[in-house]
Amino acid sequence: MQQLLDQIVKECAPLSEAGHVADYIPELAKANPKSFGAAVTDKDGKQWASGDADETFCLESIAKVVSLALALQLRGFDDVFDRVGRSAIADPFNSIMRLEMDSPHRPHNPMINSGAIVVVSLLPQEGVEAKIGAVLELCAVLSGQKIAEVVERVYLSEKFTSDRNRALAYFLRSVGSLEGDVEDTLDVYFRMCSIGTTAKQLSVLGATLACNGRNPLTGQDVISPTVARTVRALMMTCGMYDGSGEFAVDVGIPAKSGVGGGIVGTVPGRAGLAVYGPSLDERGNSVAGVAAMKRLSLEGGFRVI
Ligand code: GLU
Repeated sequence: MQQLLDQIVKECAPLSEAGHVADYIPELAKANPKSFGAAVTDKDGKQWASGDADETFCLESIAKVVSLALALQLRGFDDVFDRVGRSAIADPFNSIMRLEMDSPHRPHNPMINSGAIVVVSLLPQEGVEAKIGAVLELCAVLSGQKIAEVVERVYLSEKFTSDRNRALAYFLRSVGSLEGDVEDTLDVYFRMCSIGTTAKQLSVLGATLACNGRNPLTGQDVISPTVARTVRALMMTCGMYDGSGEFAVDVGIPAKSGVGGGIVGTVPGRAGLAVYGPSLDERGNSVAGVAAMKRLSLEGGFRVI
């Protein structure tokens, strides 16, 4: 496995040249486009890592996996899926158009920004600090860390340049789809997107989902098997933005990407895979990361479907 991972990382890293780092959030534009790393954690807690697998980056959209698991766990399936759909759509992650056109104005799934904003609003804790505290805690135990932390400079950068997410949230409120304080909800959303992680840590998160909610490093039962299965299903159908269909065909692994450059994959009963490469394609997925996931799936025998 180590040899395969080293080879894949070495051969996929140069593909980063074909993409661009996200720059609509100024702090993300500072990432090194050449960084590239990958990690695998299997069901027994064994780990392999290669390249920049210990470099810190932000979860961005991958945080949607954590907030969904938390909301399902604490609010139950009915409450969450009454407010957010489960349908795959081929719109960009921050699209407003379809939200307005469809009635009821319910986000299509929890893996796009509008859906995640509604999911955050459903978290039962009182206030911003308690809500983000719960997300951070779940993130830490899912990925086998003592603590998870918000990268302050990215959070502030997101907070002050997020017209699009504000527009989504205020639209949702105007049609009665978002309860509670809209600015507080946005604040939790920006903070969770800015949680720092590494490819190694993310591979543990993927492995915990793969092991039906039991963290293979710590042995802790973190989320229920039903929640883990539901999150995996939504990753498979909606986790790679409008590239989800192609990714399912080409790679065949439930996965979630983020504009920070991470992709986490989860192979039920077997392993968690993670890659980090901040140079993105036009859909917001890591260019080298998608290529590496494809090779890991085929050459590592991780394909699920
Ligand atoms: N914080 C980012 C945003 O809301 C997350 C987007 C992403 O990773 O897709 O725009």
